[in-house]
Amino acid sequence: MLIFILSGLIFLFAFKTIQTFYFHNLEKHLGKLAFAIENSFRPYLYKKDNEAIDRLAKYLGKKLQARITIIAPNGVVLGDSKRDPKKMENHANRPEVKQALQGQKGSSLRFSATLHKTMFYLAVPVYQERQLVGILRVSLFAEDINHLLSQIRLRLLELTLVLSFLASFLALFFSRKFSHPIRILAQAVSAIAKGRFQTRVRLESKDELGQLARGFNEMASQIELLFQELSLEREELKAIIEGLQAALVVLDMNGQIVLANQSFKEMVGFEQIENRFYWEILREPDLNSFLKTLREKPQYLLQEITIKNKTFLCSATFIPKRKKLVLILHDLTPLKEIKRVKRGLVANVSHELKTPLTAIKGFIETLLEEEDDAQKKHYLEIIRRHTERLCNIVQDLLTLSALETKSSELHIETVNLSQLLAEIKEFFSSRLRRKGLTLTINITPQAETIRVDAFKLEQLFINLIDNAIKYTEKGGISITITPSDHKYIKIIVADTGLGIPSEHLPYIFERFYVVDKSRSRRTGGTGLGLSIVKHIVKLHRGEIKVESQLGKGTKFIIILPK
Ligand code: ADP
Repeated sequence: MLIFILSGLIFLFAFKTIQTFYFHNLEKHLGKLAFAIENSFRPYLYKKDNEAIDRLAKYLGKKLQARITIIAPNGVVLGDSKRDPKKMENHANRPEVKQALQGQKGSSLRFSATLHKTMFYLAVPVYQERQLVGILRVSLFAEDINHLLSQIRLRLLELTLVLSFLASFLALFFSRKFSHPIRILAQAVSAIAKGRFQTRVRLESKDELGQLARGFNEMASQIELLFQELSLEREELKAIIEGLQAALVVLDMNGQIVLANQSFKEMVGFEQIENRFYWEILREPDLNSFLKTLREKPQYLLQEITIKNKTFLCSATFIPKRKKLVLILHDLTPLKEIKRVKRGLVANVSHELKTPLTAIKGFIETLLEEEDDAQKKHYLEIIRRHTERLCNIVQDLLTLSALETKSSELHIETVNLSQLLAEIKEFFSSRLRRKGLTLTINITPQAETIRVDAFKLEQLFINLIDNAIKYTEKGGISITITPSDHKYIKIIVADTGLGIPSEHLPYIFERFYVVDKSRSRRTGGTGLGLSIVKHIVKLHRGEIKVESQLGKGTKFIIILPK
């Protein structure tokens, strides 16, 4: 289109230039002709021989194949090669004549009233001795000029068209040459976009397009490699997830199942569970509230939950980038079963041991009373101490298993703490006196009463104070009770004793854990006292913490609901 428009413009401009040039040339040529024949007329004009003038005009007109007109300075036509001058009107106001009368060369292209045709006129003034004697006008039929010009125009048009077609053809050829490789590249790109990563481009050219093609091929092989690696990794991950013994399920934030492994499917008893909502396949209040917490506040969460009467340890991880929850459920049933059996065994054995041990203890005491031999008495004393220790262990084990079994229900009643602690103080008074220790009790009036299992709370205080006395050599023990947060009370049992090394602190509530074995044996410790305390606190839905500084003392802080 551009080529054709530009060619058209060039054609118009060229034709106009040629036309202008042609007329200019024609004017010059007619001027020269006028100059050449002017002399032939001058004598006749001077003599005013009008007949000779007309004759000469007709003769020269024929010879030169041009119209020749001679006009007097007043506009009267004196001679004309085509018509009878007498029949012609006054020419004084013809434009070319007007110009010539002013002493200039005059030209015009206009319609001839005499010949009824368009003509090109050129008029020059004729002087004789510096006096204007007439006007010589030479003219040509515009038809002839136009014929010539239209021939030129036709030629020019032909040339323009040929050149335009040639240029268009070349443009098409080159654009094809450039667009072909681009089209191939575009096809390859869309193939890659559709996932056909093995697509390559074959372009031999060494120019920028060739470079582009090589770059593209490199990129495609990299993508293919990456995709293969990714697929492999995905396969691996899938195999790992499938092979997991624990049940695994991935949920989106709407609760829709994105992925689940075989263990999970077996657990719920459905095979096709992807894209279904978890509540469609599992209606468990524990799981519902666990997921509700997670959906409200995505976080890492670990909790024991019951599904289909089985206990699971459920760990939830939130993937923020994908807004998904990964749940892993470990079946704790076998573990719980082992624990239960173990507990039963310990309880049974302790129970069976209790009667013979009590009998042994009783008879040793009788023997000790009756024995006079100092050596034998010494041995009997050792036996008595160890039997005492055995009795303590059995008693503690029985207490613990009683606390752990479900049957250990709490008998909640309102307890007056001042009263309870006064009784306990009384119970420990002789031991305190023997070791020269003090026991101070501070109770804020608002924390005076509490609703707890009185027997168990007493046991708690006895164990803590017993320990404090055991592990304190000088100073004393203080018990402070204050309200905490309206609904709770805070009990602090502090001593000024040996303290516990910090590395032991996390374990002291575990069963049979003792810091110093020889000392514990000496003092008759079983390593069960603090486990019992912790159990009692847990049963009351409270919390226990310990703070200790070696050589300075230990502080047990207990928070219990009122
Ligand atoms: P034990 O019957 O041996 O006292 P516990 O379970 O009551 O067993 O205590 C566990 C361990 O914690 C003890 O062996 C002792 O080392 C340490 N412990 C407990 N209470 C105190 C305390 N008040 N001061 C120092 N150490 C303590």
